[in-house]
Amino acid sequence: MKLISKLQLIIGSIITLILLILHFTIGEINIVSSYDVNLIILLPIAILTYFFLTYDLFIEAIEKIKEKDVFNEITLTIIATIAAFCILEFVEALAVVLFFKIGETFEDFAKDKSKNSLKAILELKPDYANLLLDNKEKRVSPEELKINDVILIKPGEKIPVDGIIIEGSTTLNTSSITGESLPKDVNINDEVISGTINISNVIKVRVIKLSKDSTVTKILDMVTNSMQNKTKQEKFITKFSRIYTPIVIALAFFFALVPPLIIGLFSINGESISSYSLWQNWINVGCSFLVISCPCSLVLSVPLTYFVAIGVCSKYKAIVKGTVYLEYLNSLNTLALDKTGTITKGNFEIQSIEVNKGIDKKDLLNYACIGEHYSSHPISLAIKEISNININENDISSYESINGKGVKTVYKNKVLLVGNESLLKDNNINYKVNENIGTIVYVAYDNKYLGSICIADSIKEDSKIALNELRKLGFKEIIMLTGDNFKNAAVIANDLNINYKANLLPTDKANIIDELKKDNKKVCFVGDGINDTVSLVKSDIGVSMGNIGSDAAIENSDIILMDDKLSTLVKVKKISKITKNKAIFNIVFSLIIKIGMMILSILNSSLSLNLNSAIMWFAIFADVGVTIICVLNSMSLMIKKIN
Ligand code: ADP
Ligand code: MG
Repeated sequence: MKLISKLQLIIGSIITLILLILHFTIGEINIVSSYDVNLIILLPIAILTYFFLTYDLFIEAIEKIKEKDVFNEITLTIIATIAAFCILEFVEALAVVLFFKIGETFEDFAKDKSKNSLKAILELKPDYANLLLDNKEKRVSPEELKINDVILIKPGEKIPVDGIIIEGSTTLNTSSITGESLPKDVNINDEVISGTINISNVIKVRVIKLSKDSTVTKILDMVTNSMQNKTKQEKFITKFSRIYTPIVIALAFFFALVPPLIIGLFSINGESISSYSLWQNWINVGCSFLVISCPCSLVLSVPLTYFVAIGVCSKYKAIVKGTVYLEYLNSLNTLALDKTGTITKGNFEIQSIEVNKGIDKKDLLNYACIGEHYSSHPISLAIKEISNININENDISSYESINGKGVKTVYKNKVLLVGNESLLKDNNINYKVNENIGTIVYVAYDNKYLGSICIADSIKEDSKIALNELRKLGFKEIIMLTGDNFKNAAVIANDLNINYKANLLPTDKANIIDELKKDNKKVCFVGDGINDTVSLVKSDIGVSMGNIGSDAAIENSDIILMDDKLSTLVKVKKISKITKNKAIFNIVFSLIIKIGMMILSILNSSLSLNLNSAIMWFAIFADVGVTIICVLNSMSLMIKKIN
């Protein structure tokens, strides 16, 4: 908090307190006419204090009015307090601005606190890079790096931008990005992702992405931009206060002016009530109306609730691109998932190999490996691991990845096919069906079938529990969409007790999502970002996991699970539900208290309950109290443990 606002609060509180005591005691002691003392001594002090406390509010109000934002909480407060001065309720007026200031301070504090929960993410940002120029090292900011620059990363340093290792090998701590606590070994030609930390050896890295396109920058942008899309509740609040505030101001004027006028007219014969106290009475109602009506607790606490929630999600390694998605997640009822890398680990292992007559197992594996040379599909990684053939890239004259089917390359001028049955069918190759359970990779070269490799992937440890929980949390229908064969898909789907569709191309998956949506289902799609971009975009909410370095995943999904776990989606879903409940609580609670207070203040004056100055104080406490309760309610999410 700035020194000046601290001074404002401290000095303002002291003077207000003294005035409060004097105001009431002078009336009691009756030495001099209390009316005179109030007017001659206390009022000027109060006016000075008022301006000392509010000059910055006036400046802010003028700025807002210039931006055509007339009915905001600041103008409301100013009108209310000036009106209070007019009826000589100046201690109350000071109290209103004072509490308004305290409320603001509290709000700043809450925002700072919730920003802290984003801090873990913001600390990912690398602040320098060691650029190698003519074998000399120069410290530059990551933004200065260009593609193909070579940088040096020493142990303990953060990877500044995404790149590829060209010299050395080391171990990376990726936990800040992926939540994975096991260190990851990387060697020459491996990609390194910005934001991770080099923990063992010096490596030389060739820059492949500018700082602005690198993973860490994108994650940071996402988190910082996530507040821009407003949720339904936030929109409701904005709309609501746009209608509500002018109505309240109108009502305030109505109650301040109309009843005393009418009563005055009817009691022309000069009855019991003096016209001064009549006016004072009703202007008081008008003022308390303005104070009570201030929508601070709403305007402040609902967006704060979502802001806090986004921070909490990032603590659990989920990046939510906007508060809207967090809110929308509540209304989804259908969950469609990709298999490889999403439900399963995506770490394939070779189970068995079948070869065609006259073909050697080793040759089969070598051809498979050559075919997969340029692929980054999880299947290709398993195959490349098992064969250590040296490939001359000049022999591969073309490479084509056929989505959902496999790869087609031209090796030594002959076509080499590695993929599933439909790839071989498309190319009119006769093959022998491999009956084993697992993903079957068929290999054909020069129109001849060489054999097939059965590889298997295992289900992630947490998938089963997570899917069960997601079902309980509102996803009534869960369906696995996979490009893999029926047999393998069935084994996995039955184990997990979910529906499935197999043998799908990426476009089929997207079509299925469209159909589901046509059935009025609200679909969340979870994929790994490799060839399911269309599905990510077409679904109501696209969630991607794994593959954190991939642009497709980052750009096309709404929620990113950095630790690759479906159980993290369970947490996000729980957070979204709690957040919604908190937002609704804040809205309903604020409105009930406020409307109650308004009714009370009208009753007071119309039934002459004589609670005049008490009403004003009630109003002040109602406003500040409600705001504080709502803010605390929002912030409590930060300390709640989500399992
Ligand atoms: P999933 O739906 O399980 O994520 P994909 O759409 O990525 O699967 O791929 C579907 C099928 O296409 C795989 O099960 C595999 O049979 C075949 N395939 C895809 N890419 C490759 C590849 N690089 N090598 C071999 N087969 C592949
Ligand atoms: Mg896939």
